[in-house]
Amino acid sequence: YKSKQSRNAVNIYRTEMEMAYLRRITVEQRLRQALSREELFMVYQPQLDEHEQIVGMEALVRWHDEELGFVSPAEFVEVAEHSGLMLALGRFVLDTSLKEYALLKRSSGISLDLGINISVIQFEQPDFVSNVLKALDTWQIPPEELVLEVTETLVMHNFDQVVETVKRLQQEGIRLSMDDFGTGYSSLSLLRKLPIDELKIDKSFVDSMLEDERAANTIQSIIYIARSHHMHVVVEGVEMGAQASALVKMGCKRFQGYYFSRPERLERIQEMLDSKALCPPESEPTTA
Ligand code: C2E
Ligand code: MG
Ligand code: MG
Ligand code: MG
Repeated sequence: YKSKQSRNAVNIYRTEMEMAYLRRITVEQRLRQALSREELFMVYQPQLDEHEQIVGMEALVRWHDEELGFVSPAEFVEVAEHSGLMLALGRFVLDTSLKEYALLKRSSGISLDLGINISVIQFEQPDFVSNVLKALDTWQIPPEELVLEVTETLVMHNFDQVVETVKRLQQEGIRLSMDDFGTGYSSLSLLRKLPIDELKIDKSFVDSMLEDERAANTIQSIIYIARSHHMHVVVEGVEMGAQASALVKMGCKRFQGYYFSRPERLERIQEMLDSKALCPPESEPTTA
């Protein structure tokens, strides 16, 4: 009886593993196709200052597949990183974001900070810096307007090379932001070794800050650390007015979240900038 039960448990486990494996394979195949057919697109989430003016935006990649439907970037970026597709995906993201931002600049006359997420796979390419510079030059975007968002997984790679790349980017005037800050292991020692310009406080702290004093204290500590290291802070995942006002009291000066605006296609961002009004927070598009 006992052995029969454990045999069943093994079967269920194996089935789940097989399903996860199949899903990965399918996502990889479809993504490879989507990349070659340019079926992905970008959306942009506004970043606001304490006066609720749009001062920046983060570029986020989107993919709607005919068969799979909407696939989260959290899922397909990970698949791309493990299947040799990340460089093609990263190139698409960099080029499309800069091109669309150039259009926005031309039609609205406004300059923003443009945040682009960079995978560690891109970051460790020897020609990464020169590729970024080339793309900036192609679309005539000043390097000072670009903010590259990286995560703490950078430390698990060739650290000397990472430091070298960070320094070269900064010499060119390109800024670096540590995304999802506070969720990795080595946050504090990392700050000592890496000249980072900005910390992005992870959504998970914001989610619980109103109920959990420790989460609120963590946010406050990160703000102090940033200040003493001459870094800027962006809070992401602000969904409620009560969070925003508590964050303002803590000294936050830059906000991103559904409470202000969801990620939107470039045309909607353009409208927001023209009318100086934010989008009602419900309408993120999932198809191209
Ligand atoms: P991230 O860089 O930390 O991006 C922030 C994520 O939080 C985005 O999810 C955004 O839509 C979501 N978000 C922002 N405000 C709120 C809010 O108030 N509430 C909630 N519930 N969510 C909010 P998204 O677009 O699904 O991206 C997930 C992750 O996938 C990103 O996390 C980033 O790590 C990765 N990613 C997305 N686009 C790209 C890209 O173009 N390149 C790379 N390398 N990674 C990307
Ligand atoms: Mg990001
Ligand atoms: Mg983040
Ligand atoms: Mg994240």
